[in-house]
Amino acid sequence: MREVLLVRFGEVHLKGLNRPYFLKMLVEDIKKVLSGMNAKVWLSEGRIYVADAPDMSECARRVSRVFGVYSVSPAVEMEKELEPILAKAAEMMTGVTGSFKVICRRSDKHFPLNSQQLAVLAGERILEKNPSLTVDVHKPQTEMWIEIRDHAYLCNRELMAVGGLPMGTAGKALLLLSGGIDSPVAGYQIMRRGVNCQAIHFASPPYTSQRAKEKVLSLARIIGEYEYGMRVHIVPFTDIQMAIHEKCEEGLGTVIMRRFMMRIANEVAKQQGCQAVITGESIGQVASQTMEALMCTEQMTDLPVFRPLIGMDKLDIIHIAEKIGTYETSILPYEDCCTVFTPRHPVTKPRLDRVEKEEEKLDIDALVRAALDGIETVLV
Ligand code: ATP
Ligand code: MG
Repeated sequence: MREVLLVRFGEVHLKGLNRPYFLKMLVEDIKKVLSGMNAKVWLSEGRIYVADAPDMSECARRVSRVFGVYSVSPAVEMEKELEPILAKAAEMMTGVTGSFKVICRRSDKHFPLNSQQLAVLAGERILEKNPSLTVDVHKPQTEMWIEIRDHAYLCNRELMAVGGLPMGTAGKALLLLSGGIDSPVAGYQIMRRGVNCQAIHFASPPYTSQRAKEKVLSLARIIGEYEYGMRVHIVPFTDIQMAIHEKCEEGLGTVIMRRFMMRIANEVAKQQGCQAVITGESIGQVASQTMEALMCTEQMTDLPVFRPLIGMDKLDIIHIAEKIGTYETSILPYEDCCTVFTPRHPVTKPRLDRVEKEEEKLDIDALVRAALDGIETVLV
């Protein structure tokens, strides 16, 4: 008898002919997060198993954070002998309260009882040993699973995992990562769909501090854990902001600045083989996130722009930030380049022709080139 984890995958099931490829990626990812844990990981009859690690609960915690995993059940693997199976089922239900149901699956047809017969016997034994439990076949509080496969597998707990698709199965993208609440959440949402992300951050020293940069790297580290390390490109943005501040109409400063961010992100994305850019924008949240402003910014890239938060309320975004563990870091009070030189009255409905006219006062190519040349890339 030994402790194992039964790993269930969600959407990977739906992937038709690509299924073997997705499963292979998923097994690789699980092996990666369990490296150093001395765990055995294998795929059998459409299910992934983990066993033999000294610390199985840490394994369960790590596996439940792998994209593509739907749930993880700590289970017992044992010989296919009726009496020990019944005894174990009754023991596993000790301490459980409320209603339950036994669910059996038998893929080994040589086992002498069919699923229904086994469920009845196990149910009787569980009730005998735990008389305070009740049976509810429709909406049980606890499901006791007994599966007869190459071995017998028993489990009555299911830990929900992150879901999504295995990392790297949906290509690469570049995340515009600020130190705020939104962009780490946006990155997480897209990464969860199997997209490998790099991050780009615009810093304006000395107006933005070293601590502000450290904060962004911490955020990248938190979400980067889901892809086993993330590349972060730090772009020197001071000269661009100074030039805008000195030469352009104040009210259009924000949208012009954001267009520079997008121009630079577009270049970096292409250099890095990324197929899309991601932002944490949400419609109407601030002056630079009106439809007019978004349109002006979007002009600066020919890649698709993913804005997973576009239709979400701030409170919902905060909820996810708390869940993924970025919120506490995001609310640290360090300045972002967007908060430097903020116009007193930003134009909320910028007109593209006016923006372009203002930009004629700047040497765009030289500014962009200098910023690209000054990029520092960090692996977190
Ligand atoms: P966030 O909470 O993500 O900072 P926000 O609500 O503060 O977003 P803005 O400051 O308008 O909104 O930024 C909108 C988006 O632009 C951010 O979600 C992020 O994707 C990108 N962005 C803003 N500032 C930076 C920066 N300094 N470096 C990289 N990307 C940035
Ligand atoms: Mg911000």
